[in-house]
Amino acid sequence: MLTIILGDITKEPVDAIVNAANTSLLGGGGVDGAIHRAAGPELLAECRTLHGCETGQAKITKGYRLPAKYVIHRPGPIWRGGIMGEEQLLQSCYENCLRLAVENGCRSVAFPSISTGVYRFPLETASEIAVRTILEFLKTHPDMEVRMVCFDRETLGYYEDALKEQTEIVNEED
Ligand code: ADP
Repeated sequence: MLTIILGDITKEPVDAIVNAANTSLLGGGGVDGAIHRAAGPELLAECRTLHGCETGQAKITKGYRLPAKYVIHRPGPIWRGGIMGEEQLLQSCYENCLRLAVENGCRSVAFPSISTGVYRFPLETASEIAVRTILEFLKTHPDMEVRMVCFDRETLGYYEDALKEQTEIVNEED
């Protein structure tokens, strides 16, 4: 099941939350900063042992003081105008995170709106890719609970519209 909610991902009591990290894994602004603040210094200490995370890689740590058991750290693509394969990269970002969650026995995962903050990915395209990729994954993992946690109403609106559109497309295919 996919649900789209307005909220703060650091408060989500799920098996894993995804962090729109940067490649250093040593914290940053936006959702990354919020996750490190809420998880406490033990998260940074574990991240230091991982020696960063290249774009395209995902790494998993414990959640420490977060209600979530794990944090999946995954740098999203930086938007460079759409000519650098950003759309495919964003799709594989969601796919990798979901795969890593399954490999670690997670039944519930929460995502932030990856790449649409300082990485400037257009919300309309990003939300369409995220929703499509998650719905595709859920076809083969129907017991998984996936939440998109939007931090502001504008973001929420885009993801809700994307879900509505994708669901209508599926219904038309039936
Ligand atoms: P990126 O570098 O991938 O663009 P950002 O952290 O800049 O990552 O932004 C990604 C999204 O996460 C933005 O929509 C931002 O508003 C949102 N965000 C920031 N803090 C939180 C939070 N505590 N919970 C959920 N989403 C958040």
